[in-house]
Amino acid sequence: MKSDKIKIGVIGVGHLGQHHAKHYNLIKNITLVGVYDTDPNRSKDIAIQYDTKSYDDISELMKICDGISVVTPTKSHYNVAKMAIEEFDCHVFIEKPITETIKQANRLIQLSKIKNKIIQVGHIERLNPALRVLEKYNLNPKFIEIQRLAPYTIRGTDVPVVLDLMIHDIDILLSLVKSDVKSIHASGVSIITDSIDIANARIRFNNGTVSNITSSRVSRDKVRKIKIFQENLYTTVDLLMEQTEIYSITKDPSIIPNVLQTKPFTYNNNKKFIAYQKPNLKKNDLLGLELKNFVDSIKGKDNPIVNGVDARNALDVVIKINNMILEDLN
Ligand code: NAD
Repeated sequence: MKSDKIKIGVIGVGHLGQHHAKHYNLIKNITLVGVYDTDPNRSKDIAIQYDTKSYDDISELMKICDGISVVTPTKSHYNVAKMAIEEFDCHVFIEKPITETIKQANRLIQLSKIKNKIIQVGHIERLNPALRVLEKYNLNPKFIEIQRLAPYTIRGTDVPVVLDLMIHDIDILLSLVKSDVKSIHASGVSIITDSIDIANARIRFNNGTVSNITSSRVSRDKVRKIKIFQENLYTTVDLLMEQTEIYSITKDPSIIPNVLQTKPFTYNNNKKFIAYQKPNLKKNDLLGLELKNFVDSIKGKDNPIVNGVDARNALDVVIKINNMILEDLN
């Protein structure tokens, strides 16, 4: 550490970066030492708002930091993160997607190992309580259906919908299925922008799990839903509402805790029950939790919930999906 208290800086304080500054300002026993943005007026405004210093020179800020958040547009993630790790020995939190290319992600991972620095990546949904509650269940999915729909906004349209939205769900999918990807089929269309606005991917894993994922940035309403089916269990996860419903098939519902409803049925002359649970979930500020996880990981008290390798693996699948969609259109 460069001093007793962990020193954090935020690079890029636009729409999301301002919230990084806000949260770091609230985390105890660390110091938000400064912010830097290529737009100096924005940098000054955010520095005043969160009681920190605005830097005109990125090196001057990195020099005094133990960790930095990289919240710039995706095309600059690699250069900013590389500079922070290689030249200034900083731990880095990089917003998703980690980089534009797999080669860049691999280089950052390699540098972080050489320099013994943490890379954490902002796949924030992994902290969603609606997903985390499933850690208590013995998940072994056979089929996973994921839908993420969002109304159109200009933000995020610098990249295809697969890299902007679907990457969240690919990361979740890879965390749920402990097996390698066997095959991918994908298709997509442009509706508003010059790149892909609606995409669908069917992914099969070596262990037989099948998934079907749809992402769209042309929707009236926001939808972020996951349905997981496995032997004797079906669950629906609403990431937006932070609610999870679990239906278990059992001979004896009394062994399942907090069952709200049971429904009997008979199959092959065996009487069974569908037991319904809807756990009470505490809503949390996910970004606050994510940045606390980064700080605790720097302190050696925790590990990043999504590290550079996880993020690289999600990017790898997403790039394959995107290439497949483009080939399909030609
Ligand atoms: P934004 O355009 O609102 O903000 C980006 C800021 O970075 C701007 O203020 C810009 O002036 C500044 N900037 C540009 N290049 C820079 C550089 N080289 N050095 C320093 N500052 C620079 O974008 P945003 O919506 O805040 O998105 C930022 C990143 O966060 C993107 O990678 C995006 O994919 C990611 N993001 C993640 C989530 C999530 O759910 N985890 C949500 C939204 C955005």
